[in-house]
Amino acid sequence: MKFTLLFLLTFLLCFSGFSQDNHATALQGMRVDVVYLASNLLEGRATGEPGESLAAQYIASRFAGEGLQPKGTDGSWFQPFDFNIKENPHSNTGGKAGNGKNVVAFLDNGAPTTVVVGAHYDHLGYGLDGSSLYVGDSAVHNGADDNASGVAAMLYLAHYLKTSPAKHNNYLFIAFSGEELGLYGSKNFANNPTIDLSSVTYMLNMDMVGRLNKEKVLAINGAGTSPVWKDELAKISVGGIKPKTTDSGIGPSDHTSFYLKDIPVLHFFTGQHTDYHKPSDDSELVNYNGIYEVAQFMATLIENLDGQGKLAFTKTKDEQKEATSFKVTLGVMPDYVYEGEGMRIDAVLDDRPAQKGGLKAGDVVIQIGDVKVKDIYGYMEGLGKFNKGDKAIVKVKRNNEVVETEVVF
Ligand SMILES: [Zn+2]
Repeated sequence: MKFTLLFLLTFLLCFSGFSQDNHATALQGMRVDVVYLASNLLEGRATGEPGESLAAQYIASRFAGEGLQPKGTDGSWFQPFDFNIKENPHSNTGGKAGNGKNVVAFLDNGAPTTVVVGAHYDHLGYGLDGSSLYVGDSAVHNGADDNASGVAAMLYLAHYLKTSPAKHNNYLFIAFSGEELGLYGSKNFANNPTIDLSSVTYMLNMDMVGRLNKEKVLAINGAGTSPVWKDELAKISVGGIKPKTTDSGIGPSDHTSFYLKDIPVLHFFTGQHTDYHKPSDDSELVNYNGIYEVAQFMATLIENLDGQGKLAFTKTKDEQKEATSFKVTLGVMPDYVYEGEGMRIDAVLDDRPAQKGGLKAGDVVIQIGDVKVKDIYGYMEGLGKFNKGDKAIVKVKRNNEVVETEVVF
Protein backbone atom coordinates (compact mmCIF):
# COMPACT_ATOMS: atom_id res chain seq x y z
CA MET A 1 0.00 0.00 0.00
CA LYS A 2 2.73 2.39 1.04
CA PHE A 3 4.71 1.43 -1.97
CA THR A 4 1.73 2.03 -4.24
CA LEU A 5 1.10 5.44 -2.71
CA LEU A 6 4.74 6.41 -3.00
CA PHE A 7 4.76 5.21 -6.56
CA LEU A 8 1.63 7.19 -7.32
CA LEU A 9 3.04 10.34 -5.70
CA THR A 10 6.29 10.01 -7.60
CA PHE A 11 4.36 9.48 -10.78
CA LEU A 12 2.16 12.53 -10.16
CA LEU A 13 5.14 14.70 -9.30
CA CYS A 14 6.96 13.64 -12.44
CA PHE A 15 3.85 14.13 -14.49
CA SER A 16 3.08 17.62 -13.18
CA GLY A 17 6.74 18.58 -13.54
CA PHE A 18 6.61 17.37 -17.10
CA SER A 19 3.48 19.32 -18.00
CA GLN A 20 4.83 22.47 -16.33
CA ASP A 21 7.93 22.15 -18.46
CA ASN A 22 5.71 21.81 -21.51
CA HIS A 23 3.84 24.94 -20.54
CA ALA A 24 7.04 26.91 -19.92
CA THR A 25 8.54 25.67 -23.20
CA ALA A 26 5.38 26.59 -25.10
CA LEU A 27 5.37 30.10 -23.60
CA GLN A 28 9.03 30.59 -24.43
CA GLY A 29 8.43 29.41 -28.00
CA MET A 30 5.57 31.87 -28.44
CA ARG A 31 7.65 34.68 -27.03
CA VAL A 32 10.51 33.92 -29.44
CA ASP A 33 8.12 33.87 -32.41
CA VAL A 34 6.39 37.14 -31.47
CA VAL A 35 9.56 39.02 -30.48
CA TYR A 36 11.30 38.09 -33.73
CA LEU A 37 8.35 38.75 -36.06
CA ALA A 38 7.54 42.06 -34.31
CA SER A 39 11.15 43.27 -34.13
CA ASN A 40 12.28 46.40 -35.96
CA LEU A 41 14.53 44.14 -38.08
CA LEU A 42 11.47 43.00 -40.03
CA GLU A 43 10.33 46.60 -40.61
CA GLY A 44 6.67 45.92 -40.01
CA ARG A 45 6.37 43.00 -42.49
CA ALA A 46 4.72 45.01 -45.28
CA THR A 47 3.47 42.80 -48.12
CA GLY A 48 6.06 42.56 -50.90
CA GLU A 49 8.86 44.16 -48.84
CA PRO A 50 12.07 42.45 -47.62
CA GLY A 51 10.72 42.20 -44.06
CA GLU A 52 7.79 40.13 -45.33
CA SER A 53 10.22 37.72 -47.06
CA LEU A 54 12.29 37.32 -43.90
CA ALA A 55 9.15 36.62 -41.90
CA ALA A 56 8.01 34.08 -44.51
CA GLN A 57 11.40 32.31 -44.36
CA TYR A 58 11.19 32.16 -40.58
CA ILE A 59 7.68 30.70 -40.60
CA ALA A 60 8.66 28.13 -43.26
CA SER A 61 11.64 27.03 -41.17
CA ARG A 62 9.42 26.73 -38.08
CA PHE A 63 6.94 24.58 -40.08
CA ALA A 64 9.84 22.43 -41.30
CA GLY A 65 11.09 22.08 -37.72
CA GLU A 66 7.69 20.72 -36.70
CA GLY A 67 8.01 18.06 -39.41
CA LEU A 68 5.20 19.39 -41.65
CA GLN A 69 5.09 19.10 -45.45
CA PRO A 70 5.38 22.14 -47.71
CA LYS A 71 2.02 22.75 -49.43
CA GLY A 72 2.50 25.98 -51.37
CA THR A 73 2.89 26.29 -55.13
CA ASP A 74 4.83 23.49 -56.90
CA GLY A 75 5.76 21.69 -53.69
CA SER A 76 7.35 24.74 -52.07
CA TRP A 77 6.43 26.37 -48.75
CA PHE A 78 5.24 29.50 -50.53
CA GLN A 79 2.25 30.54 -52.58
CA PRO A 80 3.04 33.81 -54.37
CA PHE A 81 0.29 36.23 -55.43
CA ASP A 82 0.03 39.65 -57.05
CA PHE A 83 -1.71 42.62 -55.54
CA ASN A 84 -2.77 45.83 -57.17
CA ILE A 85 -4.32 48.59 -55.12
CA LYS A 86 -6.01 51.25 -57.18
CA GLU A 87 -5.34 54.87 -56.42
CA ASN A 88 -8.03 56.34 -54.18
CA PRO A 89 -9.44 59.42 -55.95
CA HIS A 90 -10.94 60.73 -52.69
CA SER A 91 -7.69 60.92 -50.77
CA ASN A 92 -4.08 61.59 -51.58
CA THR A 93 -3.01 57.96 -51.10
CA GLY A 94 -1.40 56.52 -54.20
CA GLY A 95 -1.95 53.09 -55.74
CA LYS A 96 0.47 50.26 -55.14
CA ALA A 97 1.21 47.03 -56.97
CA GLY A 98 3.54 44.17 -56.15
CA ASN A 99 3.59 40.60 -54.98
CA GLY A 100 3.40 38.83 -51.68
CA LYS A 101 3.40 35.22 -50.54
CA ASN A 102 1.44 32.91 -48.27
CA VAL A 103 3.34 30.23 -46.34
CA VAL A 104 1.53 26.88 -46.45
CA ALA A 105 2.20 23.64 -44.54
CA PHE A 106 0.37 20.31 -44.33
CA LEU A 107 0.03 17.74 -41.57
CA ASP A 108 -1.13 14.65 -43.43
CA ASN A 109 -3.08 12.10 -41.38
CA GLY A 110 -4.33 10.29 -44.49
CA ALA A 111 -7.85 11.53 -43.66
CA PRO A 112 -10.56 12.43 -46.22
CA THR A 113 -11.17 15.84 -44.59
CA THR A 114 -8.88 18.73 -43.67
CA VAL A 115 -9.05 21.51 -41.07
CA VAL A 116 -7.52 24.83 -42.16
CA VAL A 117 -5.79 26.82 -39.41
CA GLY A 118 -4.72 30.30 -40.52
CA ALA A 119 -3.24 33.58 -39.33
CA HIS A 120 -1.94 36.52 -41.34
CA TYR A 121 1.70 37.48 -40.80
CA ASP A 122 1.90 40.71 -42.83
CA HIS A 123 1.49 44.11 -41.21
CA LEU A 124 1.70 47.80 -42.07
CA GLY A 125 5.45 48.30 -42.59
CA TYR A 126 6.10 51.98 -41.96
CA GLY A 127 2.41 52.79 -41.82
CA LEU A 128 0.80 51.81 -45.14
CA ASP A 129 -1.10 54.85 -46.41
CA GLY A 130 -4.57 55.09 -45.01
CA SER A 131 -4.37 52.10 -42.62
CA SER A 132 -2.20 53.50 -39.84
CA LEU A 133 -3.91 55.32 -36.99
CA TYR A 134 -0.62 56.91 -35.97
CA VAL A 135 0.24 60.56 -36.54
CA GLY A 136 3.95 61.38 -36.51
CA ASP A 137 7.27 60.73 -38.21
CA SER A 138 7.71 57.50 -40.15
CA ALA A 139 8.08 54.57 -37.73
CA VAL A 140 8.03 50.78 -37.90
CA HIS A 141 4.58 49.39 -37.14
CA ASN A 142 5.64 46.21 -35.36
CA GLY A 143 2.31 44.40 -35.32
CA ALA A 144 2.99 42.19 -32.29
CA ASP A 145 -0.67 41.60 -31.49
CA ASP A 146 -1.66 42.19 -35.16
CA ASN A 147 -0.74 39.52 -35.97
CA ALA A 148 2.52 37.98 -34.76
CA SER A 149 0.35 36.70 -31.88
CA GLY A 150 -1.86 34.71 -34.27
CA VAL A 151 1.17 33.25 -36.05
CA ALA A 152 2.65 32.16 -32.71
CA ALA A 153 -0.65 30.50 -31.77
CA MET A 154 -0.78 28.75 -35.16
CA LEU A 155 2.81 27.45 -34.80
CA TYR A 156 1.98 26.17 -31.33
CA LEU A 157 -1.12 24.40 -32.70
CA ALA A 158 1.01 22.81 -35.45
CA HIS A 159 3.32 21.45 -32.76
CA TYR A 160 0.42 20.30 -30.57
CA LEU A 161 -1.61 18.63 -33.32
CA LYS A 162 1.40 16.65 -34.52
CA THR A 163 1.13 14.42 -31.44
CA SER A 164 -2.60 14.85 -30.75
CA PRO A 165 -4.78 11.73 -30.90
CA ALA A 166 -7.14 13.71 -33.18
CA LYS A 167 -6.26 11.99 -36.48
CA HIS A 168 -9.59 12.01 -38.35
CA ASN A 169 -8.64 15.21 -40.16
CA ASN A 170 -5.54 16.47 -41.88
CA TYR A 171 -4.40 19.97 -40.93
CA LEU A 172 -3.43 22.73 -43.32
CA PHE A 173 -1.62 25.68 -41.75
CA ILE A 174 -1.53 28.93 -43.71
CA ALA A 175 0.33 32.11 -42.79
CA PHE A 176 -1.38 34.68 -45.02
CA SER A 177 0.17 37.82 -46.41
CA GLY A 178 -1.63 40.79 -48.01
CA GLU A 179 -4.28 40.82 -45.26
CA GLU A 180 -3.80 44.45 -44.32
CA LEU A 181 -4.08 45.47 -47.99
CA GLY A 182 -7.46 43.75 -48.29
CA LEU A 183 -7.30 39.97 -47.64
CA TYR A 184 -5.21 39.42 -50.80
CA GLY A 185 -3.42 36.29 -49.57
CA SER A 186 -6.47 34.44 -48.28
CA LYS A 187 -8.55 35.39 -51.34
CA ASN A 188 -5.76 34.10 -53.52
CA PHE A 189 -5.61 30.82 -51.62
CA ALA A 190 -9.41 30.38 -51.69
CA ASN A 191 -9.40 30.92 -55.47
CA ASN A 192 -6.25 28.86 -56.13
CA PRO A 193 -6.23 26.25 -53.36
CA THR A 194 -3.33 23.80 -53.11
CA ILE A 195 -5.67 21.14 -51.69
CA ASP A 196 -9.22 20.23 -52.74
CA LEU A 197 -11.37 22.89 -51.03
CA SER A 198 -14.37 20.53 -50.95
CA SER A 199 -12.40 18.41 -48.45
CA VAL A 200 -12.12 21.31 -45.98
CA THR A 201 -14.42 20.72 -43.01
CA TYR A 202 -13.84 24.10 -41.33
CA MET A 203 -11.40 26.99 -41.07
CA LEU A 204 -10.11 28.63 -37.87
CA ASN A 205 -8.57 32.10 -38.13
CA MET A 206 -6.54 33.84 -35.45
CA ASP A 207 -6.19 37.57 -35.91
CA MET A 208 -5.06 39.50 -32.81
CA VAL A 209 -5.02 36.96 -29.98
CA GLY A 210 -2.26 38.60 -27.94
CA ARG A 211 -4.22 40.82 -25.56
CA LEU A 212 -6.45 38.47 -23.56
CA ASN A 213 -7.86 40.70 -20.79
CA LYS A 214 -8.23 40.06 -17.05
CA GLU A 215 -11.80 38.87 -17.52
CA LYS A 216 -10.50 36.46 -20.20
CA VAL A 217 -13.19 37.39 -22.71
CA LEU A 218 -12.42 35.84 -26.10
CA ALA A 219 -14.37 37.20 -29.07
CA ILE A 220 -15.28 34.40 -31.49
CA ASN A 221 -16.82 35.58 -34.75
CA GLY A 222 -18.52 33.33 -37.28
CA ALA A 223 -20.48 31.25 -34.74
CA GLY A 224 -23.46 31.28 -37.12
CA THR A 225 -21.54 29.62 -39.97
CA SER A 226 -22.23 26.06 -38.77
CA PRO A 227 -25.10 24.71 -36.65
CA VAL A 228 -22.59 22.93 -34.40
CA TRP A 229 -20.46 25.92 -33.34
CA LYS A 230 -22.41 27.34 -30.41
CA ASP A 231 -22.94 24.02 -28.62
CA GLU A 232 -19.34 23.00 -29.20
CA LEU A 233 -17.97 26.32 -27.94
CA ALA A 234 -20.18 26.18 -24.85
CA LYS A 235 -18.73 22.76 -23.93
CA ILE A 236 -15.16 23.97 -23.67
CA SER A 237 -13.64 25.01 -20.38
CA VAL A 238 -10.02 26.16 -20.63
CA GLY A 239 -8.27 28.50 -18.20
CA GLY A 240 -11.45 30.43 -17.42
CA ILE A 241 -11.81 31.73 -20.99
CA LYS A 242 -15.24 33.25 -21.65
CA PRO A 243 -16.23 33.04 -25.32
CA LYS A 244 -18.29 35.90 -26.66
CA THR A 245 -19.70 34.98 -30.05
CA THR A 246 -21.04 36.87 -33.04
CA ASP A 247 -22.69 35.06 -35.93
CA SER A 248 -21.45 36.64 -39.15
CA GLY A 249 -18.93 34.84 -41.35
CA ILE A 250 -17.98 38.17 -42.91
CA GLY A 251 -15.45 40.24 -41.01
CA PRO A 252 -12.29 42.26 -41.56
CA SER A 253 -9.97 39.24 -41.67
CA ASP A 254 -9.04 36.12 -43.64
CA HIS A 255 -11.81 33.77 -42.47
CA THR A 256 -14.12 35.82 -44.75
CA SER A 257 -12.38 34.39 -47.85
CA PHE A 258 -13.24 30.84 -46.71
CA TYR A 259 -16.76 31.69 -45.57
CA LEU A 260 -17.43 33.01 -49.08
CA LYS A 261 -16.55 29.49 -50.35
CA ASP A 262 -19.28 28.02 -48.08
CA ILE A 263 -16.85 26.73 -45.45
CA PRO A 264 -17.73 27.01 -41.73
CA VAL A 265 -15.33 29.49 -40.11
CA LEU A 266 -14.42 30.94 -36.72
CA HIS A 267 -12.31 34.01 -36.04
CA PHE A 268 -10.61 34.24 -32.64
CA PHE A 269 -9.88 37.75 -31.35
CA THR A 270 -8.88 38.99 -27.88
CA GLY A 271 -10.14 42.52 -28.50
CA GLN A 272 -9.34 46.00 -29.71
CA HIS A 273 -6.88 48.36 -28.00
CA THR A 274 -5.35 51.81 -28.37
CA ASP A 275 -2.10 50.44 -29.88
CA TYR A 276 -4.05 48.97 -32.79
CA HIS A 277 -2.38 49.88 -36.12
CA LYS A 278 0.21 52.03 -34.37
CA PRO A 279 3.99 51.62 -33.92
CA SER A 280 3.28 50.89 -30.23
CA ASP A 281 1.72 47.46 -30.96
CA ASP A 282 4.85 45.92 -29.41
CA SER A 283 5.88 42.48 -28.18
CA GLU A 284 6.31 43.54 -24.53
CA LEU A 285 2.59 44.35 -24.33
CA VAL A 286 1.55 40.86 -25.40
CA ASN A 287 -0.10 38.46 -22.93
CA TYR A 288 1.80 35.25 -23.75
CA ASN A 289 -0.10 33.05 -21.37
CA GLY A 290 -3.24 34.44 -22.99
CA ILE A 291 -2.05 33.24 -26.42
CA TYR A 292 -1.33 29.85 -24.87
CA GLU A 293 -4.82 29.62 -23.39
CA VAL A 294 -6.49 30.69 -26.64
CA ALA A 295 -4.48 28.03 -28.49
CA GLN A 296 -5.42 25.41 -25.88
CA PHE A 297 -9.06 26.43 -26.25
CA MET A 298 -8.79 25.90 -30.00
CA ALA A 299 -6.96 22.59 -29.60
CA THR A 300 -9.79 21.37 -27.37
CA LEU A 301 -12.35 22.41 -29.97
CA ILE A 302 -10.43 20.58 -32.72
CA GLU A 303 -10.13 17.44 -30.60
CA ASN A 304 -13.81 17.51 -29.61
CA LEU A 305 -14.82 17.77 -33.28
CA ASP A 306 -12.52 14.96 -34.38
CA GLY A 307 -14.49 12.10 -35.90
CA GLN A 308 -17.64 14.18 -36.47
CA GLY A 309 -17.05 14.23 -40.24
CA LYS A 310 -17.46 17.29 -42.40
CA LEU A 311 -19.32 20.08 -40.59
CA ALA A 312 -22.54 21.51 -42.02
CA PHE A 313 -22.34 25.09 -43.32
CA THR A 314 -24.88 27.85 -42.78
CA LYS A 315 -25.01 31.29 -44.37
CA THR A 316 -25.20 34.21 -41.96
CA LYS A 317 -26.62 37.70 -42.09
CA ASP A 318 -23.99 40.03 -43.42
CA GLU A 319 -23.53 42.37 -40.46
CA GLN A 320 -20.19 43.74 -41.59
CA LYS A 321 -21.47 45.11 -44.89
CA GLU A 322 -24.32 46.86 -43.11
CA ALA A 323 -21.78 48.39 -40.77
CA THR A 324 -19.60 49.79 -43.52
CA SER A 325 -22.53 51.24 -45.46
CA PHE A 326 -23.12 53.97 -42.84
CA LYS A 327 -22.91 57.53 -43.99
CA VAL A 328 -21.56 58.75 -40.65
CA THR A 329 -19.25 57.57 -37.87
CA LEU A 330 -18.54 58.79 -34.36
CA GLY A 331 -14.81 58.27 -34.76
CA VAL A 332 -14.32 55.83 -31.90
CA MET A 333 -12.99 52.32 -31.53
CA PRO A 334 -15.65 50.14 -29.91
CA ASP A 335 -14.65 47.64 -27.24
CA TYR A 336 -15.68 44.42 -28.96
CA VAL A 337 -15.30 42.32 -25.84
CA TYR A 338 -17.26 44.58 -23.46
CA GLU A 339 -19.91 42.49 -21.73
CA GLY A 340 -22.05 45.14 -20.00
CA GLU A 341 -25.04 46.96 -21.42
CA GLY A 342 -24.23 49.64 -24.00
CA MET A 343 -21.19 50.16 -26.23
CA ARG A 344 -17.95 50.89 -24.41
CA ILE A 345 -15.49 53.17 -26.19
CA ASP A 346 -11.96 51.80 -26.30
CA ALA A 347 -10.38 54.80 -27.97
CA VAL A 348 -11.48 58.17 -29.34
CA LEU A 349 -9.90 59.23 -32.63
CA ASP A 350 -8.54 62.75 -33.01
CA ASP A 351 -10.63 65.44 -34.72
CA ARG A 352 -13.69 63.26 -35.19
CA PRO A 353 -17.28 63.85 -33.97
CA ALA A 354 -16.91 61.94 -30.69
CA GLN A 355 -13.79 63.79 -29.63
CA LYS A 356 -15.23 67.15 -30.64
CA GLY A 357 -18.32 66.35 -28.59
CA GLY A 358 -16.20 65.59 -25.52
CA LEU A 359 -16.56 61.79 -25.45
CA LYS A 360 -13.73 59.87 -23.79
CA ALA A 361 -12.22 56.39 -23.83
CA GLY A 362 -14.04 54.31 -21.23
CA ASP A 363 -17.40 56.02 -21.80
CA VAL A 364 -20.26 53.60 -22.37
CA VAL A 365 -22.68 54.82 -25.05
CA ILE A 366 -26.26 54.06 -23.98
CA GLN A 367 -28.26 56.22 -26.40
CA ILE A 368 -27.77 57.93 -29.77
CA GLY A 369 -30.62 60.24 -30.75
CA ASP A 370 -33.79 58.25 -30.06
CA VAL A 371 -32.11 54.84 -30.22
CA LYS A 372 -31.28 53.11 -26.93
CA VAL A 373 -27.94 51.33 -27.31
CA LYS A 374 -27.91 47.90 -25.66
CA ASP A 375 -24.83 46.57 -27.46
CA ILE A 376 -22.61 47.18 -30.45
CA TYR A 377 -25.43 46.36 -32.87
CA GLY A 378 -27.69 48.91 -31.23
CA TYR A 379 -24.87 51.39 -31.65
CA MET A 380 -24.68 50.62 -35.38
CA GLU A 381 -28.44 50.89 -35.67
CA GLY A 382 -28.31 54.30 -33.97
CA LEU A 383 -25.64 55.57 -36.36
CA GLY A 384 -27.68 54.38 -39.32
CA LYS A 385 -30.29 57.09 -38.66
CA PHE A 386 -27.99 60.02 -39.38
CA ASN A 387 -26.53 61.84 -42.35
CA LYS A 388 -23.41 63.93 -42.59
CA GLY A 389 -23.90 67.31 -40.90
CA ASP A 390 -26.72 66.04 -38.62
CA LYS A 391 -26.58 66.68 -34.90
CA ALA A 392 -27.39 64.07 -32.27
CA ILE A 393 -27.57 63.90 -28.50
CA VAL A 394 -25.39 61.04 -27.31
CA LYS A 395 -25.88 59.69 -23.79
CA VAL A 396 -22.96 57.92 -22.15
CA LYS A 397 -22.28 56.39 -18.77
CA ARG A 398 -19.10 57.77 -17.25
CA ASN A 399 -18.11 56.59 -13.75
CA ASN A 400 -21.72 55.66 -12.91
CA GLU A 401 -23.04 59.04 -14.03
CA VAL A 402 -25.03 59.63 -17.19
CA VAL A 403 -23.51 62.39 -19.32
CA GLU A 404 -25.25 63.95 -22.32
CA THR A 405 -23.39 65.60 -25.14
CA GLU A 406 -24.18 66.88 -28.61
CA VAL A 407 -22.15 65.58 -31.52
CA VAL A 408 -22.10 66.84 -35.09
CA PHE A 409 -21.56 64.12 -37.70
ZN1 LIG B 1 -4.82 41.66 -38.36
